[in-house]
Amino acid sequence: AGGAAGWRAEMAKEAIRVYARVKPLGRRQQAGIYSVDDYEKSLSALEIIVPHDLADGFVNNKQESYKFKFQKIFDQEAKQDVVFDSVAKPVAECVLAGYNGTIFAYGQTGSGKTFTITGGAERYSDRGIIPRTLSYIFDQLQKDSSKVYTTHVSYLEIYNECGYDLLVQRDKASRLEDLPKVTIMEDSDQNIHLKNLSLQRATNEEEALNLLFLGDTNRMIAETPMNEASTRSHCIFTVHISSKEPGSATIRRSKLHLVDLAGSERVAKTGVGGHLLTEAKYINVSLHYLEQVMIALAEKNRSHIPYRNSMMTSVLRDSLGGNCMTTMIATLSMDKRNIDESISTCRFAQRVALIKNEVVINEEIDPTLMIVQLKKEIQELKDELALVTGKQRTSELSQEELLQLDELIETFLEDNDPDSALDVGADMRKIKYCFIRIKQLKISDKKLLSQNISEEKDANKEAEEELKNLKELLQQRDNEISIL
Ligand code: ADP
Ligand code: MG
Repeated sequence: AGGAAGWRAEMAKEAIRVYARVKPLGRRQQAGIYSVDDYEKSLSALEIIVPHDLADGFVNNKQESYKFKFQKIFDQEAKQDVVFDSVAKPVAECVLAGYNGTIFAYGQTGSGKTFTITGGAERYSDRGIIPRTLSYIFDQLQKDSSKVYTTHVSYLEIYNECGYDLLVQRDKASRLEDLPKVTIMEDSDQNIHLKNLSLQRATNEEEALNLLFLGDTNRMIAETPMNEASTRSHCIFTVHISSKEPGSATIRRSKLHLVDLAGSERVAKTGVGGHLLTEAKYINVSLHYLEQVMIALAEKNRSHIPYRNSMMTSVLRDSLGGNCMTTMIATLSMDKRNIDESISTCRFAQRVALIKNEVVINEEIDPTLMIVQLKKEIQELKDELALVTGKQRTSELSQEELLQLDELIETFLEDNDPDSALDVGADMRKIKYCFIRIKQLKISDKKLLSQNISEEKDANKEAEEELKNLKELLQQRDNEISIL
């Protein structure tokens, strides 16, 4: 790793990687026309053809073919392990090295976001990015005995601009609104903190999976036919890792966000009156703000990025245009009726691909450990000094030593011989004291002088007072000296 200093200097501009995944068509679905071209290892193109009859109802132009570029496109038959290996493993590796990472899935409801991020429950091989990443991370941590690792997880659901903590034990089924509310706090350095979001310690894969299960259960309980939270809410599963070499005061911290966004379908489709409309408006609003942030980030020389407009963009601020290795998976449903939504998902993805993040390793010094280390160093130096001088030293000079020094200084100052020297030995404490003392004497001398000159008329009580004090002080010193 080249040592901590080498790491700290490391900083890289990383474009957000954008992948696409096409969901297998259902039996009764009619396939839209599309094709996938793999150009190179990290460049694939997706072409979607919109027949005229459909194009007429969709957008008012005659364009038939739409082309989009991705890092890689996973077509219908792609399995979960392949998706994990190319999409999530590189991000997990960065997180283990101390960088922040984010993977988010974006697409309309039913296009496979949850299947990709969390996985399907039917088969073990269907498990998605979260369980596979947990398994990979704990595997790696176990192999690395050079560091001490601590891992925590948190699971946040954002619904209608409200945050909810999904990692709470509940005895009975209840509504999302009954979960602890999470709020955003911004500190003076403009760092975002999530108040009330619990960080649960997970020491191994099993504990982490149990927490994921607890969160998913809370997610499902909150979901009723009347309140389809899953399509309208964003879920952010976060793995927090900190690492430290034994005995070192430097701590590395990194976060991996695995994000299942709300359905990206446009409001016109969902828009029905009453309650549903406010919800639809809200998802739309927060994804709309996500889009605004993406657009602002993709523009060069934009200084204001509107992160604060929604809770989700605030929480993901670091992941978008900040210090984070970020990856997006555009999930696409290619049946005829969903072609228009797929095109708008791809358009969004193309904008995201323009964003570059600045990534650095997150290191900080543990102050308590630093103090322990410094104390140890001081003791070692003291021991060394005692060995060299043959004397044990305390940090303070004794009263006796101070008086001796005062006497030496006085003799030195009064001595008219230009060659006279003030020799207190090789003791920094004594040398320092002498300097301070001489300065004090000089200042009081000066005061006397300046007062005499500038305030002749007053001639003056203050000076007399001070002179008296000084005389008293001198008398006192004399007495002390004579006692000695
Ligand atoms: P979203 O979260 O985007 O609304 P889901 O992940 O819930 O969509 O997917 C909708 C349905 O399609 C689910 O039943 C899911 O199991 C299935 N599905 C999605 N993607 C795949 C896939 N790649 N392979 C098999 N089934 C999938
Ligand atoms: Mg879902």
